[in-house]
Amino acid sequence: MQAAKENPTSARSSRSKGQATGNLTSAGAVRVLQVALQDDCSPQDLISLVRGDPGFALRTLNWANSSAFRRPRPVTDISQAVSLLGVRGLRNLALGVVVTDMVPRHADDHHLLAVGLRRALAAQAVAKRATPDLVDTAFTAGLFLETGIMAMAGEDMGRAVAVATSPAGHRTLRERALGLAPHPQVGARLAETHRLPADLVTAIRQHHDLTPPEGRLARVAWAAEKVASIFEAGDPRGAKVEAGAALQTLDLTGPDLDAIVLTLPEAVIEAGQIFERNVGPQPSLEALLLDANLHLANANLQYEAVVQALERTLAEKEVLARQLQEANARLTAMAETDTLTGLPNRRVLTVTLARELARAQRTGQGLALAIVDLDHFKRVNDTYGHAVGDVVLAAVGRALTRVFRGSDLVTRYGGEEFVVLLPTASRIDASIALERAREAIQDLAVETPAGPIKVTMSAGVAYTSGPRCQDHAELLFSTADAALYEAKDAGRNRVVSAQPI
Ligand code: GH3
Ligand code: MG
Ligand code: MG
Repeated sequence: MQAAKENPTSARSSRSKGQATGNLTSAGAVRVLQVALQDDCSPQDLISLVRGDPGFALRTLNWANSSAFRRPRPVTDISQAVSLLGVRGLRNLALGVVVTDMVPRHADDHHLLAVGLRRALAAQAVAKRATPDLVDTAFTAGLFLETGIMAMAGEDMGRAVAVATSPAGHRTLRERALGLAPHPQVGARLAETHRLPADLVTAIRQHHDLTPPEGRLARVAWAAEKVASIFEAGDPRGAKVEAGAALQTLDLTGPDLDAIVLTLPEAVIEAGQIFERNVGPQPSLEALLLDANLHLANANLQYEAVVQALERTLAEKEVLARQLQEANARLTAMAETDTLTGLPNRRVLTVTLARELARAQRTGQGLALAIVDLDHFKRVNDTYGHAVGDVVLAAVGRALTRVFRGSDLVTRYGGEEFVVLLPTASRIDASIALERAREAIQDLAVETPAGPIKVTMSAGVAYTSGPRCQDHAELLFSTADAALYEAKDAGRNRVVSAQPI
């Protein structure tokens, strides 16, 4: 008991201290972090900050005495611990406090804390062998890899634990199935808010990439993810093979991986003590392998459930998207169609006319606009009733559509008036087409409940071409209207073509 109290790495002594200091530690960590992130910060700047916060001071000593530094004699003096850890070491310690504080205390919190700390330590161990100058930065990157999941814990612990306890390779899939942003993105954003350097943010964002990332730090974090996943739900044997392949991309070998794997569980326990959080049991790889078949079966079951959930979600999304698209298409069609005749309405005419005039100007080809008006239509209504009049209007609409070409546009303008647009080379061609229409309507006997009904039409045609024809929309209408008036005046059932504009 006595010995445990004196030993700064003892779980018992640090835990009792942590409870006594509570939030104070976190506030100290944030202050140290603020100063340690400044470019010109020196260890001296940090000593008084660390001393001023007893909880953080104790953690600093514990960290300096942890097995990562392999000191022959325990460090007992704060300034010695600070200079041993350096600015970046202290920054990591402070970040560790901030990150572990993201996970609320809860019966299942150890799952989340373990995945976070395991990656920090795995990245540190990989970097120590592959890129010694990146050891501290790699720790920070590793620490942030799963913060996207840890951050979720504040809102929904059950969800966060469900993601954290699924095999590492399934987590982003599971997040998608739950409709959540993938944790590499969330973690990268969090790192940005802590003003961590860009290469670190990239490393976090890329840690689940299918192929090895380019950057050195990103590669280390990516490999650390694979090393950590050996210890997490799933197939440890297969995960170890994958981790070995990942380490090879950093020129590390099988014995390197064995050494890292051997020390990682203990290091996680030790880090848990320093951060005064429960990380749960940390079995060795050997112990995990004994249980491997059970793990593999569980992982497969989990995986299938996740994939099915994801497929369901995506299928539902697709159905919804399709329904929305169809509804939009229906709405657009409704907004552009005259309900009685099924012809395009005035709105379509306005848009098409502007487009066709611009095109006529560009291509040099002319454009004709014809206003078609049924003769004495009031009499049809008066004689047979409005409903029969409607049947006749619809039949005339269909007949006009049949007469004109696909490149012409037949619209219902309103009442018993139709407007036809004809992209055409000459005024004569336009009058010939309208004359054909006049004959077709004259020959039409519309079948109605009141028996076959015959009507005639009159039309006024305006034609424009030339350099300024784009501005002629209104002029085309008034000219065609005047020609129509002439046709009516001249006895109806005829086509009058105005002089070209
Ligand atoms: P004109 O030869 O001079 O064009 O004579 P008209 O009777 O055709 O002309 P007027 O403008 O006096 O009357 C148009 C008629 O068209 C009156 C109106 O009841 C009828 N009408 C307009 N819209 C509709 C409709 O949607 N359905 C029916 N059934 N009749 C309509
Ligand atoms: Mg009329
Ligand atoms: Mg009329």
